[in-house]
Amino acid sequence: MKLGISACLLGTMCRYDGTNSKDGFIVNTLNKYFDYEPYCPEAEVFGTPRDTIRLVEVQGQTRVRTTYEGVDLTDKLDESCEKNSNRIKNDYLCGFILKASSPTCGMERVKVYQEINAPSEKKGVGRFAMKIKEKYPYLPMEEEGRLKDPWLRENFLMQIFAYKHLHEFLDDSPTIKDLVEFHTQYKYLVYAKSNVSYKTLGNIVANRDSKPLEDILQEYKQAFLEAISQKGSIKKTYNVLLHIFGYFKKLITKEEKKEILEYIDDYKQKLIPLIAVINILNLYTKRFQLDYLLTQKFLSPYPKELALRSDIKAYK
Ligand code: SF4
Repeated sequence: MKLGISACLLGTMCRYDGTNSKDGFIVNTLNKYFDYEPYCPEAEVFGTPRDTIRLVEVQGQTRVRTTYEGVDLTDKLDESCEKNSNRIKNDYLCGFILKASSPTCGMERVKVYQEINAPSEKKGVGRFAMKIKEKYPYLPMEEEGRLKDPWLRENFLMQIFAYKHLHEFLDDSPTIKDLVEFHTQYKYLVYAKSNVSYKTLGNIVANRDSKPLEDILQEYKQAFLEAISQKGSIKKTYNVLLHIFGYFKKLITKEEKKEILEYIDDYKQKLIPLIAVINILNLYTKRFQLDYLLTQKFLSPYPKELALRSDIKAYK
């Protein structure tokens, strides 16, 4: 599966003035794990270079107009956004990274102007971003600007890797036994996001009503996508760490116990990053060969080279 990207973030010279907005994290780091599919709804319909456009509030409706002449381009741009958003389902994407602040690609806080001379307000959504959200509500989506925030980046990466894994798993004609195995790996990752989702997914897999496999898989897909679209938090993660600790607390000495609990507490106080605690837990998991924990995605949700959990700010 690929990641959809606003083309200017990849270095394509498709901005209104013929420049790009190349993003280091996308072109130097994330590219080692994903192929990209570029999208630029503006260049496709207006060419490059072109007049700048902006969102304008007109009689309670948001329209797209050229900045200087005020020509209304809403319908033309919407047509291109519609076409590009339809392309997404054929491109088999597992997520989308959009260019922040753009009247086309911005996910939030895009400037909206008034017809008369008045200060703009950052309350708009780009036309393309809006279409993607409407058509694919569970497709992981972020802006390159927001990905500079370690917490949002951690959540987004966890989501795209899990989203990709789920789709590849479902494409492989799984049996109910396969589903139980898949679900088992994600128990703590889901628990770190939502207790409710954790219970819902557990009930679906238990299949007490003996529903057909096809229905179970469909229900599971929906509930899993909802679960991974939620953000984690220090509090929820702290609870998961204590649960994991519970697996070997009877197998270790009093001193070891005290040391681990101190680590977990330091994480809660934001004194050390999550990776420091995970490393300790992984050490004990391996020492006692706790197979159940060894399979948990929570302990390694994405390639460790991305090392996001080494940033203290990666949890809120
Ligand atoms: S922000 Fe979107 S529409 Fe604008 S240049 Fe980049 S890809 Fe094209």
